[in-house]
Amino acid sequence: MKVVLQNLTKKFPSRDRKNHQDVVAVNDFNFEIPDGKLIGLLGPSGCGKSTTLNLISGLIKPTEGKIFFGEDDVTDLAPEHRGIGLVFQNYALYPHLTVRQNILFPLQNLKGEDKLSKTEMLKRAEEAANLVQISELMERRPRELSGGQQQRVAIARALVKMPKVLLLDEPLSNLDARLRLQTREEIRRIQRETKITTIFVTHDQEEAMSISDMIVVMKDGIVQQIGRPQEVYDNPVNLFVARFLGTPPVNVFTGQVKDGRLFISGEDVMEASGIPDGDVYAGVRPEGFVLNEEGSLGCKLNGVEVMGRDISIVSSHEASLNPTVRALIGTENRVDIGARHDGGEVTVRFDLVPHKVFLFDKVTEERVTALV
Ligand code: ADP
Ligand code: MG
Repeated sequence: MKVVLQNLTKKFPSRDRKNHQDVVAVNDFNFEIPDGKLIGLLGPSGCGKSTTLNLISGLIKPTEGKIFFGEDDVTDLAPEHRGIGLVFQNYALYPHLTVRQNILFPLQNLKGEDKLSKTEMLKRAEEAANLVQISELMERRPRELSGGQQQRVAIARALVKMPKVLLLDEPLSNLDARLRLQTREEIRRIQRETKITTIFVTHDQEEAMSISDMIVVMKDGIVQQIGRPQEVYDNPVNLFVARFLGTPPVNVFTGQVKDGRLFISGEDVMEASGIPDGDVYAGVRPEGFVLNEEGSLGCKLNGVEVMGRDISIVSSHEASLNPTVRALIGTENRVDIGARHDGGEVTVRFDLVPHKVFLFDKVTEERVTALV
């Protein structure tokens, strides 16, 4: 089922006595979520992710705009008639019911022509339990389960009604790191098997990047960029998106473009042909540095960290916005830092990989690209 958001806006009245301006939690959101895809809705806390999800579910009503499921306008439809499944961060299971009873619960409330026979209900519950691999836990109560198992029950309960749209609000946030990784892969598998259009809300960029067909990056209620995870990583439209995606984060330097060259602290570091002259932020992905004794950018070496596959060269630079500059070099490269000693300080020099460097207007923080 495709989901269309049209000029979707939600304002909450301000409770602040001094500032009567409404809180615009979601600001003119337009997007057509393709049928059968997993969409990651990503952004920092407070950017409007949950509000967007609650608008889609019908738990809250938009101030402006419309929502369509397929061709049907569902803007004024009650949540129970939208055919959605919801999963929240806190599993919200009924503590006094067994796993089986928890999963059966949504089916027992079906009325009229949706009403199912007891046998049909049990069969559906079994299927949902199988899908999330908890069939052997059906007689337990929630307190007898681990967090990961409880979240699987919550997912089974959302799936048992065979929803047309599955909405997940930070479903992995209460799990420890290893379980989080495992459960996110499970969610991906289940989504692929069921092909239910799924919207997955998270503040964790790695989580969103790893499982989503497409990500939507939000800030202050406003959609910043929509695209395939790799596309957005490789082509951020503004400084915010560039900084939000990637671990370690992008390295940001203040710089100047002059006559088709990029200068950082007066050093001519690379070509910037077609870019208008002016002050910029230069974002360099950690993998965008190449060690070279004769390299164009000199940084003050702080140390070298070896972490499994990668070697991080940690340095600092007066024009860097981040306290440290982090360069990732694969272990296949022998680290032979062509260090020069300048008055006790060790300078490490890099060349920059052009497609790993993004330039942003210093004032608008929007990406500046070459004029063609
Ligand atoms: P996220 O899920 O991305 O952390 P939310 O959608 O929960 O963000 O919130 C977006 C903004 O709307 C925040 O500034 C939040 O304080 C505000 N907000 C959310 N719900 C309400 C509400 N019921 N009343 C007033 N303000 C709200
Ligand atoms: Mg939220």
